[in-house]
Amino acid sequence: MSDTPTNFTDLGLSEALLKAVRDKGYETPSPIQAQAIPAVLSGRDIMAAAQTGTGKTAGFTLPLLQRLSSSTGNKVSSNNVRALILTPTRELAAQISVNIEEYGKYLNLHSTVVFGGVKINPQMMRLRQGVDILVATPGRLLDLYNQRAVKFSQLEVFILDEADRMLDMGFIRDIKKLMTALPKERQNLLFSATFSPDIRALAKGMVNNPLEISVDAENSTAEKVTQWLTAVDKKRKPAVLTHLIKENDWQQVLVFTKTKHGANKLTKHLEAEGLTAAAIHGNKSQGARTKALAAFKDGSVKILVATDIAARGIDIDLLPQVVNFDLPNVPEDYVHRIGRTARAGNTGQALSLVCADELDLLWGIEHVIQQHIERKVIEEFIPANELGESRAIKPLKQGKPPKSGKHQEAGKGRVEHKDGQRSGRNANGNNTSSNKAKPGNDSSRRKKPEYDGSGPKPRRAIRPTK
Ligand code: AMP
Repeated sequence: MSDTPTNFTDLGLSEALLKAVRDKGYETPSPIQAQAIPAVLSGRDIMAAAQTGTGKTAGFTLPLLQRLSSSTGNKVSSNNVRALILTPTRELAAQISVNIEEYGKYLNLHSTVVFGGVKINPQMMRLRQGVDILVATPGRLLDLYNQRAVKFSQLEVFILDEADRMLDMGFIRDIKKLMTALPKERQNLLFSATFSPDIRALAKGMVNNPLEISVDAENSTAEKVTQWLTAVDKKRKPAVLTHLIKENDWQQVLVFTKTKHGANKLTKHLEAEGLTAAAIHGNKSQGARTKALAAFKDGSVKILVATDIAARGIDIDLLPQVVNFDLPNVPEDYVHRIGRTARAGNTGQALSLVCADELDLLWGIEHVIQQHIERKVIEEFIPANELGESRAIKPLKQGKPPKSGKHQEAGKGRVEHKDGQRSGRNANGNNTSSNKAKPGNDSSRRKKPEYDGSGPKPRRAIRPTK
């Protein structure tokens, strides 16, 4: 792409922002930044397909700051906001807010962040004098709006971040309600890891004549992740993980479990083995999560055990090691998980511990990532229950979310439940349980094609680096 700017100075950003970018140590814009920044500056709506780890936050924050600081005379009145960034999780909201502070440090703009799980009153106080940028999670924002603590009559820019995850987490109704409260004249930026039919339907009512940006998967950081798996008996997973951490002297490991209970149990096991570990999941208070994350970042805790939803938005530079203790039920979560490592040009490793009854889940993941994950044998842990073969990779269908045994049905919101399993509500508002890997569910009834060892060449390869 010869006409894509390769320097931050070519993007039309002001000196105050370029200086902040230099302070962060960024040398060249990432592909999403090179495309999104000039488009946002020009005032266009955009729809961008970009995963976490691509540098998308700076992609929308930098031009947003510039637009707000250069439109003169738009003094924000009390309880009003000029730009709203909606994001699915508290951690992500906090992270974006930190980024805004950092990129905007040479500008005179005010921003704040609101999310649930903490007291609402201090948030109301902060909103009282009005803010230029508000970062929020949908539920808490709706509460604040209903209590008239926030008004949108001065809103200029609306950003929906991680839209696919918003739908997954069941926020669609809150988002739609909030959107009806926004002025019609506004700039809209929509970010999503994937553009499923559901996301496109949401986009229809949100963006006008958007510039569609897609970061080529081959350029994405996921390519730099070395992915591998080891087959292991379910019962021996804690032991193999401990073995690998000790043997390789891993210093910072993010471990994913499917359930909150599983996260707690594994954390106890690791601690009993003399390792420092902490768990973060939806049952932990915001304070406990922040504390665990800080300890993990500063190295006093080496292993952070997380459920998918809690881990969303964790931003740790140079995170070298991600472990899937359990495979996720939803194959796309695998992509989100491994996106925690090898961020913005760094390399990382993603290891999955796979037991025999997770074969269906593995197939779903390999289909979504369009490649087979390399298998390695750990001599001491050869499983008694052998893990079946992978299947040939079939190309993904254009425009259709990949179907796997564990893929949720379109339109069903998900929430994290006590046991960490997810369920959602169907169109009638009835609760629906998500699929579990047990005999008799949809996935195990699915016909298992024989592995023929061949299959079409991966269309969208995310290659592990050796
Ligand atoms: P994001 O996809 O926005 O979550 O960003 C992922 C990580 O990349 C964050 O840790 C950013 O600080 C970092 N980052 C963003 N843009 C750049 C860049 N142009 N060069 C190097 N690192 C970057």
